[in-house]
Amino acid sequence: MSEKTLKFNSRTIHGGQHPDKAYGAVMPPIYQTSTYAQSAPGVHQGFEYSRSANPTRTALENALASIENGSYGLAFGSGLAAIDAVIKLLGPGDEVISTNDLYGGSYRLFKQIFEKFGITFRFVGMQETTEIEKQINKNTKLIWVETPTNPMMNVINIEAVSTLAKKHAVLLAVDNTFATPYLQTPLDLGADIVMHSATKYLGGHSDVVVGALVVKDKKLAEKLYFIQNASGAVCGPMDSFLVLRGIKTLHVRMQRHCENGKVVAHYLANHPKIENVYWPGFETHPNHAIAKSQMNDFGGMISFVPKGSSYDDAIKIVSKLKLFTLAESLGGVESLAGHPASMTHASIPKMEREKIGVVDSLIRLSVGIEDASDLIADLEQAIG
Ligand SMILES: *Cc1c(COP(=O)(O)O)cnc(C)c1O
Repeated sequence: MSEKTLKFNSRTIHGGQHPDKAYGAVMPPIYQTSTYAQSAPGVHQGFEYSRSANPTRTALENALASIENGSYGLAFGSGLAAIDAVIKLLGPGDEVISTNDLYGGSYRLFKQIFEKFGITFRFVGMQETTEIEKQINKNTKLIWVETPTNPMMNVINIEAVSTLAKKHAVLLAVDNTFATPYLQTPLDLGADIVMHSATKYLGGHSDVVVGALVVKDKKLAEKLYFIQNASGAVCGPMDSFLVLRGIKTLHVRMQRHCENGKVVAHYLANHPKIENVYWPGFETHPNHAIAKSQMNDFGGMISFVPKGSSYDDAIKIVSKLKLFTLAESLGGVESLAGHPASMTHASIPKMEREKIGVVDSLIRLSVGIEDASDLIADLEQAIG
């Protein structure tokens, strides 16, 4: 049976995987080694030095390529290291058009690291592709999309942006951390690069920090591999193993994240003390139609704003939560709550933040896979 014909729910388990050559280990061993014996200079079994390649990382990279319907996977020491490698495809004078509502760390990397090297970043609301086209000029080399966006849960039409990118011969990269390939596969919609913070849903157990890129094009893969090896921000064998193990249950976890997310979103929407709930599954969500056509379900990420509340009221609610842990990050089996203004998005200036809806009272939930009734009971006691 060719792997290509396997359904997603089988590729999470078998994609790119083979029993280990040495002893037939079903799970790829953690090859905790920096170097490999050569029988003569340059004669080896495909591995020379673990920055360049390590068998456990290779197993993860093959799994990543398989679940994203790509041809080449690259694993990094963090999601930001993966983004860093993509931006290193560019040079001084080049321009990037990015989602305006994006992960705070990506914004910081763009503005505070790469602008110094002469790369310009333009941030736009991408729900209308015409807004993107207005910003394209002869220096534009890359469009950076995050969808659903963080933390406002806007949904961007990947296929429409891809058509635009192709028309102007610009690369399109999609940060697929929130959706995961269970919900959407951007390469199938025309994206050139898929990026992940595998720290989140792919790892799924809040025990590792890893990043990933997946591409279809061989030349692009070679350029990114060159950067990965030359800059050296690789992930280690233990971390590769943990993400590989996480991916094997991705589909089962995601199904429950989506089910619980739906229950929590509706509970919040019907709560008299809640003003706004941001979740793409609502028919009233401005991008619901795109979400419905582009995604297989709506995920477990939800943001909400309590009625008439201030910074302090939001802090009070998140502090009262017991089952939802107050913490940065998302995508683990356990439910987390965050306060973007003081946590994940603190590095974005308040004025910039509020322009896109990240008000001081916004609360973000990563709904885990606990029993939904316990999650509701916890929200009930915290919101009051
Ligand atoms: C966490 C996150 C990142 C950064 O990944 P790290 O693994 O923390 O470096 C990038 N994009 C999104 C959407 C994220 O949630």
